[in-house]
Amino acid sequence: MAICIPNRQLFVDGEWREPVLKKRFPIINPATEEIIGDIPAATAEDVELAVDAARRALSRNKGRDWSSASGAVRAKYLRAIAAKITERKSELAKLEAIDCGKPLEEAAWDMDDVAGCFEYYADLAEGLDAKQKAAVSLPMETFKCYVLKEPIGVVALITPWNYPLLMAAWKVAPALAAGCAAILKPSELASVTCLELAAVCREVGLPPGVLNILTGLGPEAGAPLASHPHVNKIAFTGSTATGSRIMTAAAQMVKPVSLELGGKSPIVVFDDVDIDKAAEWTAFGCFWTNGQICSATSRLIVHESIAAEFLDRLVKWVKNIKISDPLEEGCRLGPVVSGGQYEKILKFISTAKSEGATILCGGVRPQHLKKGFFVEPTVITDVTNSMQIWREEVFGPVICVKTFSTEDEAIELANDTHFGLAAAVISNDLKRCDRVSKAFEAGIVWINCSQPCFCQAPWGGNKRSGFGRELGEWGLDNYLSVKQVTQYISDEPW
Ligand code: NAD
Repeated sequence: MAICIPNRQLFVDGEWREPVLKKRFPIINPATEEIIGDIPAATAEDVELAVDAARRALSRNKGRDWSSASGAVRAKYLRAIAAKITERKSELAKLEAIDCGKPLEEAAWDMDDVAGCFEYYADLAEGLDAKQKAAVSLPMETFKCYVLKEPIGVVALITPWNYPLLMAAWKVAPALAAGCAAILKPSELASVTCLELAAVCREVGLPPGVLNILTGLGPEAGAPLASHPHVNKIAFTGSTATGSRIMTAAAQMVKPVSLELGGKSPIVVFDDVDIDKAAEWTAFGCFWTNGQICSATSRLIVHESIAAEFLDRLVKWVKNIKISDPLEEGCRLGPVVSGGQYEKILKFISTAKSEGATILCGGVRPQHLKKGFFVEPTVITDVTNSMQIWREEVFGPVICVKTFSTEDEAIELANDTHFGLAAAVISNDLKRCDRVSKAFEAGIVWINCSQPCFCQAPWGGNKRSGFGRELGEWGLDNYLSVKQVTQYISDEPW
């Protein structure tokens, strides 16, 4: 199943453009550790060109002005992008799989979600036309007031590597739907499909400068973008540490920022569940995409009366997961994204061991795979609240376990974290599920499942998992500013 990485350049002002400093860096297939291509490395010089192109795309006197095109016109381009993604689904899924190690089948689902996201925001772009000039009722008849929702302007979209094209789509689609011009900076660890998005935009004739794509390193390309004075808003998804830097850069220019950051999400399993089903959701909730999901439910809090039986099923389930090259038929778990992540995950596991935790299964490279950044799915017990493994985000296939005896204790354990992205509860008592859902300190709650995600529903976290919401109408609002227009309508002098 040979597949070549297309040789691409940066995408600026509707054209492929070599980086000003002509730098490139290698792409490593995490399943084989081989260099399979390279991508352009943008620097501050390229950021200048891209921001300038984005500004021109919004400028009335240059005759471009994406922002004042109707929502219906913008929707036409978004639908064309969705159609091209669908047309190229199988090739894009393969590129995603070899670039970031995601099983091919999962990568193909991602491509469906990417196309679905562009379609969804095409609908919302059309809806925006009808929502303009919404009247505001005032207490004085001598005035009338209405509201305009306007694009925020030039936006910087900075994204991570775990869902490379999907995370980009979550930002690009609503930003373009709102009428903004964007500069996308994908992760240096997985940028290939984002450059293919550039190719798609060229094919559908997206006006120049509306979307610019700069691949490159965080400090070299992301930092100058975040601090650029002509970027009007930053939408960031990534680690809490980088999010904090982005917020500092935004604060210096008082520019709005939305942050989708890390997590250490709990899954609480009560004693009234179907143990097989609950174990399957628990495994899925943590090991899907190799645990490299911001919302992975990586802290299992299970009722003490079923803990032994539950862990037995969970371990059986986990041991059945097929670990292989992501392109291999039936692969359920590929390698983690990079050598750096691989080392980091193993270090987390060895620290947990040295702090007194027990590795119930996994914790090592699978014996049958000599190359690649593979880590067996790992279940860790005998964990205390103060251990690193309980407190910090691993971003790998590692779940840690604690038991509880009362509902209050379960909630306390679940909320015992600086993060607040997601939380799951599994119980047959739906009243209890409602109570627990309200008590969770998290932006997303799942009842009797873990990880389903729909582009219609809001996505985002509390506490150190960030703020602002993506997806749904909230995702569009991220890129709109609200203007009040008030008119004096009386003939009487004021
Ligand atoms: P990261 O913070 O290392 O990098 C994210 C992006 O920021 C990359 O494009 C990177 O190049 C860029 N960057 C790095 N330093 C920068 C700087 N100084 N200025 C500007 N940009 C900079 O994160 P990652 O390792 O790519 O992704 C993993 C993290 O993302 C995890 O913590 C995960 O939880 C989080 N994540 C969150 C969500 C969510 O929806 N909340 C979704 C996916 C991933």
